[in-house]
Amino acid sequence: MTTTTPAIAAPAAGQPLAPTTIVRRDLRPDDVLIDVAFAGICHSDIHQAKEDWGTAIFPMVPGHEIAGVVAAVGSGVTKYQVGDRVGVGCMVDSCGECEYCLAGVEQSCLKGNVPTYNGVGYDGENTYGGYSRQVVVKDHFVCRVPDGLGLDIAAPLLCAGITTYSPLRQWHVGPGKKVAVVGLGGLGHLGVKLAVAMGAEVTVLSQSLKKQEDGLKLGAKDYYATGDEATFDVLRGRFDVILNTVSAKLPIDAYLSLLRVGGAMVNVGAPGEPLSYNAFSLLGGNKILAGSGIGGMRETQEMLDFCAEHGIGAEIETITADQVNTAYERVENSDVRYRFVIDAATIGA
Ligand code: NAP
Ligand code: ZN
Repeated sequence: MTTTTPAIAAPAAGQPLAPTTIVRRDLRPDDVLIDVAFAGICHSDIHQAKEDWGTAIFPMVPGHEIAGVVAAVGSGVTKYQVGDRVGVGCMVDSCGECEYCLAGVEQSCLKGNVPTYNGVGYDGENTYGGYSRQVVVKDHFVCRVPDGLGLDIAAPLLCAGITTYSPLRQWHVGPGKKVAVVGLGGLGHLGVKLAVAMGAEVTVLSQSLKKQEDGLKLGAKDYYATGDEATFDVLRGRFDVILNTVSAKLPIDAYLSLLRVGGAMVNVGAPGEPLSYNAFSLLGGNKILAGSGIGGMRETQEMLDFCAEHGIGAEIETITADQVNTAYERVENSDVRYRFVIDAATIGA
């Protein structure tokens, strides 16, 4: 049975989001119908709604930080039952057969993963995201939200959590490692919590000292303002890993100077404009400039379990559907502490 569900959509690039209704497909044998409880607002939602990354599909129902409860399952689904607490992140399909899908890194699928919204499914239908009351997702792309993690503080983990967890693991963050997290926003604040839980010594590099008290409460040992040029002298050569979560263009050479010999700067921030660096910033000191995109399904579940074990959830401000456009403005002004989460019960209410 096809489901019509209330949603919030951007009608065109850069236009305010407004209430609408969308249709969710009939359940296929491997589908799960989810009653959305909360949907996080990721800066990627804003980049796409404004076409910062290029042409997008409209109307757009953003939302790839989805947490909710299973309302129905297809005939072939064995992993989930009605009533289970689940989450959905940035992708809803992949080929399942290529070397990367088989390795559990579906985000790198050779056929191309299907994004949760602003994408086209392998069936040719546009995808619509989590700013809606219900969503239908193939079971492989659904994760279990462990008991003890509230659905509201879990929702942002499905993108911001995995996007920071995966590179911290890849670059062996742990005891004895000095890690800098650049930008204390949605991704950054979870990057701090996760790196601290992994045992690293964490420093926040923020534009100003406005959020210093929060950063230290999250577990960071140090907090510096990048607006103060002296910061770059004081911290020269200090870090094993720098996790850049900034949504805008940064002077990459200045940050590379903060790495130890052999250290890695990993970009997860995704500004529309190109980033550039001087070759000498890398070859003096054998440094690494890397990137990381979300994470595979197996690792996403591992991250959720890690968060439950360590009592990690997002710091959230819960909003109603009619506050989404104001929330977008506040995120763009770095005025978010630290993730807006939409209460899905207010969509279409
Ligand atoms: P966010 O909540 O807006 O946080 C970004 C933070 O960057 C801000 O809070 C601010 O921190 C800092 N910042 C913003 N503008 C800046 C500027 N002009 N100069 C220096 N610092 C600035 O955004 P988010 O949701 O965490 O997302 C961050 C970026 O990651 C976005 O580009 C998003 O698209 C991208 N992303 C990538 C992936 C991936 O797979 N790689 C996944 C999700 C999101 P301070 O106030 O502390 O300076
Ligand atoms: Zn995201």
